[in-house]
Amino acid sequence: MASSVLYSNIGNPPTQIIKGEGHYLLTEDGLKLFDATSGAAVAALGHNNPEIKAAIVEQLETLDYCYLPFFTSAAAEKICSFLTESTGGEMSKVFIVSSGTEAVEASLKMARQYFVELGQLPRTKFIARKQSYHGNTLGSLATGFHKGRRAIYEPILAANVSHVSPCYAYRGCKSGESDEEYVNRLAKELEDEFQSQGPDTVCAFIAETVSGTTLGCVPPVPGYFKAMREVCDRHGALLILDEVMSGMGRTGTLHAWQQEGVVPDLQTIAKGLGAGFVPIGALMLNKRVVEVLSRGSKAFVHSQTYQGHPVACAAALAVQNIVARDGLLDNVKLQGELLGKLLQERLSGHKRVGDIRGRGLLWGIEFVKDKTTKEPFPAQEQIGQKIHLKGLEPKYSISLMPGPGIVDGKDGDIILIAPPYTVSSADVKHIVNTIAEVPSGRY
Ligand code: PLP
Repeated sequence: MASSVLYSNIGNPPTQIIKGEGHYLLTEDGLKLFDATSGAAVAALGHNNPEIKAAIVEQLETLDYCYLPFFTSAAAEKICSFLTESTGGEMSKVFIVSSGTEAVEASLKMARQYFVELGQLPRTKFIARKQSYHGNTLGSLATGFHKGRRAIYEPILAANVSHVSPCYAYRGCKSGESDEEYVNRLAKELEDEFQSQGPDTVCAFIAETVSGTTLGCVPPVPGYFKAMREVCDRHGALLILDEVMSGMGRTGTLHAWQQEGVVPDLQTIAKGLGAGFVPIGALMLNKRVVEVLSRGSKAFVHSQTYQGHPVACAAALAVQNIVARDGLLDNVKLQGELLGKLLQERLSGHKRVGDIRGRGLLWGIEFVKDKTTKEPFPAQEQIGQKIHLKGLEPKYSISLMPGPGIVDGKDGDIILIAPPYTVSSADVKHIVNTIAEVPSGRY
């Protein structure tokens, strides 16, 4: 029977998953797939967790829904307190939404509102980065730079966003250039962009703390965000860190900025917050921003029907309690180090592997046609797709997130590896063995 679901590729339905259990997904064809990318770097606790199910049922029995602009709930209060406390009070208010994209949209409107409160009305522009991904709605898509995702919508995207180079050492750092010199060059590029836009017209610089989807996981080089923060501060602009993918423990600390020595003004989170059990995202506001907003008389005109949904909040709180109780951030660091070490050992010598990079349990492999010239591997031939699902012996079945990523302005071939925070060393070895052994001879 023809499917009525509109899939991204319009026509062909992907493989149907009939059950999720622990770290595995069971397909309709009887394959048992190890969920090595936690869906889309989401399922931090794996699947079918009885404690989360119990928390959801308990919330449904108490209060299934209330409209946050009219009423609050204990669940919303508790998850927001947890989040602000997790930042040591640096972020002092939280706006709960239902996805990462919505959090990004809210951050852009909030940045504008901050400057309206300050009476700085000419501030209407945003500076973002090339090779970034912030979501697919019009505002978030305008800040991202994935050419394929933007292509046909380009004429309807906001024109108030400009883009500078990302921190992407594999391709961006010049031969012989130190990290410090590279960072200084990127800071100069951002400074120049402020000057060309008019420094008093820029609301914010927005960046992923650790790049995810578009680049296949790229952590910043040391000092990068401190230097970007300095440029923003010099011009009174806000720093928005998009931690939809890299935050909530994925890279080893609850917030990825905690490893960068900077505090953002606005921060977006989503995936690891509800770990896939519920749709939830959030915008977190620095106390400095809250202080300015509180002085003003204006509401944040951004109410949404499912804002602060009690069931989503209760599930997210249960997820975060398990992450803390079971010491899962330590496991993310431990298994992440093993994953990086094994990927390097097994794959760095492969003729198609250009770069292996990552942090915590977020790793990327960039495939190239030629290791010396770094010519990107053609995205249409996607090595990642050969590893993901198809044509494999059942014992090696694994689910990964294949590219295309954007490499040097063109589609390139990358894969993203982001297993649940609960993986063991044996699981990590299984993932690396699969990536290393299954496709040998096929690419
Ligand atoms: N921002 C970043 C950094 C992301 O990685 C994503 C999704 O991958 C988004 C925003 C969009 O989030 P969502 O798909 O939950 O709307």
